[in-house]
Amino acid sequence: MSFFEKYRQYQDFAFADYFRSLGDGDIQRIIQKDRLSELDYLALLSPAAEAHLEEMARRAHGLTVRHFGRSILLYTPIYLANHCVNRCVYCGFAVHNAIPRTRLTLEEVAAEAQLIAATGLKHVLILTGESRKHSPVSYIKDCVGVLKKYFSSIGIEIYPLEEEEYRELVDAGVDGLTLYQEVYHPAVYDRLHPAGPKKNYAFRLDAPERACRAGVRTVNVGALLGLHDWRSEAFFTGLHASYLQNKYGHLEVSISPPRMRPHGGDFEPVEKVRDKNLVQYILAYRLFMPRGGISLSTRESAFLRDHLLPLGITKMSAGSCTAVGGRCQPEAASQFAISDERDVPAMVDMLYRQGYQPVFKDWQTL
Ligand code: SF4
Repeated sequence: MSFFEKYRQYQDFAFADYFRSLGDGDIQRIIQKDRLSELDYLALLSPAAEAHLEEMARRAHGLTVRHFGRSILLYTPIYLANHCVNRCVYCGFAVHNAIPRTRLTLEEVAAEAQLIAATGLKHVLILTGESRKHSPVSYIKDCVGVLKKYFSSIGIEIYPLEEEEYRELVDAGVDGLTLYQEVYHPAVYDRLHPAGPKKNYAFRLDAPERACRAGVRTVNVGALLGLHDWRSEAFFTGLHASYLQNKYGHLEVSISPPRMRPHGGDFEPVEKVRDKNLVQYILAYRLFMPRGGISLSTRESAFLRDHLLPLGITKMSAGSCTAVGGRCQPEAASQFAISDERDVPAMVDMLYRQGYQPVFKDWQTL
């Protein structure tokens, strides 16, 4: 069974009817449960649960401290290339956007790595657009070879690969995968990805599982919030994480709840996902997956990140830059605008002030 089959079990589920059937008593009972079912999780994502966020927050905080302590893993993204053959309507790097295209040389990768390493960070996430011509697996592997000298953990957020290709990268030193489905609803996915290999919904959906079979240690999944109804998208993201966790015992699974940010194209979010919605999503997921990681990026403002921290967050990016080589060349074109521009010392300071331990390293790839 693949996650696509799991998805199909709920594909025609009557979300609105289910939400209408829920009362305050149902929500209160679910919040107190030790183990939530899939439908319990969905109930906590319902409009009815919005009146119970404080109660959910208390429980989410307790569960997070019990399973993770007061610690936050810090990481930062490195954009290697922005060549892309896809036409994702919501992305500044899409092929139809007239931006300068570039790819870092191995010397430039080393220069970026040195700047990041000087901040003390040990975990990095490398990104490319989707272009097998400009950023083939062999190029990514060469970059990993350079980055290994500076960092203890290297994650990839690149186009979906075949299992054998993931294995090649794991052997080269990659230990984590971040891959957002963007939209779990197949018809909406099809509309927002008008052309390019990314149009293949099923190949993308099953990519995290291929990476698990190839031996990655961590997987981070997510939906880009704003592209479709957030409640069902949050539900399927949680289900995806739970499916992977149950099937691959060795895996450290996380979700990210990224909201759309201003970008180089003209696409506007289909749905406004409010701060309150984001909070509800984080809380519901924490109660459903007490040991699941939650990663919060610099797409969100410093104010919001500081306030979401105690609710269940376990990983945060710091000193981020969404342009290729943007740390060495600040004028380079970004994939999207970041909101929290704090550097690593500022993030560390914030975490200590809130009683949290910043973690720079919790893994060493040998
Ligand atoms: S989201 Fe990724 S695949 Fe889509 S256009 Fe942007 S860089 Fe390319």
